[in-house]
Amino acid sequence: MKEVHTIEDLRHWPKADPPLRLAVIGDPVAHSASPQMHNAALEALGIGARYTRLHLRAEEVAEAFRLLDPQGFIGINCTIPHKSAALALVDEVDVSAKLAGGVNTVLVRRDGRLAGFSTDGPGFERAVHEAFGVALRELRVAVLGAGGGAGRAVAMQCAGARCQRLFLYNRTAEKLNALVASVLGFFPECRLTASTLDNISPSEVDLFVNCTAVGMKPGEPSIVPADRLLARHLVFDTIYTAARTPLMLAADAAGARSENGLPMLLHQGVMSFERWFDRPAPIDVMRAALLAAAPR
Ligand code: NAP
Repeated sequence: MKEVHTIEDLRHWPKADPPLRLAVIGDPVAHSASPQMHNAALEALGIGARYTRLHLRAEEVAEAFRLLDPQGFIGINCTIPHKSAALALVDEVDVSAKLAGGVNTVLVRRDGRLAGFSTDGPGFERAVHEAFGVALRELRVAVLGAGGGAGRAVAMQCAGARCQRLFLYNRTAEKLNALVASVLGFFPECRLTASTLDNISPSEVDLFVNCTAVGMKPGEPSIVPADRLLARHLVFDTIYTAARTPLMLAADAAGARSENGLPMLLHQGVMSFERWFDRPAPIDVMRAALLAAAPR
């Protein structure tokens, strides 16, 4: 069975046993660990369906959405760069997707209508609670990389959870200003400060969240140098890897607690699964499969 399918495959969707009825769409998508995580869950629950990868270019996504119901799909996940395009292609947009500004989970309803959700922000919140045992509402949170999709989902989740204070930091001002306007549009009471990355004020922050990919490539530095971190800080790097990221190593040097993006990926996947099947996902099975598949 092919590991990565194309739009041409979707037009003549291959018969398989169990049938391919779930997928992650993206460009690129070959690296995604979602199939391992979801297939482990499907097997554990004895559900006769499999989850695969669909490599789609931007101009192929609308056709792909039209084919989901006819080809028997239960749902899909959307990853970079298709999350925002998916907003306009579903029939119903859940509030979670409106807040995130994108869809990462599509449910094909029985009548063929497509419902779009985002589980990125809620997955982040669960992961923070699991890692550090605190609720977002107790924290002053700094989002680093507030100009991208992950930054928006995290910022909206923090604002919606009524965090103590929200600091939005981004390299460039333009996208930062757009997010500030969106956050205050949804949550006018949010206590928010926005600035460029060179103006971080660590003494006012409890939780740092890296929403950039800085630290993913070998040799890249930590987005926050170790000497700006304090032992009381909580540090969450959304980069998903089984290894310690440069930001986590900086946290180690400062004596601070840290976590990477694997539990966020896990919990967003758990919530997708529960949208599709309306039953509890086997979280321990999914965690083990994800850990085994994660880049090191
Ligand atoms: P994106 O939309 O491309 O956003 C990238 C953000 O990073 C922007 O704010 C950008 O700032 C900033 N940035 C890029 N290069 C930078 C640099 N050299 N220095 C400083 N800032 C820089 O990407 P995304 O989809 O939000 O993803 C970002 C990260 O989140 C990735 O590592 C991804 O793997 C992770 N993520 C994790 C999960 C999970 O479940 N764990 C889910 C989603 C995403 P400008 O606005 O200035 O360009």
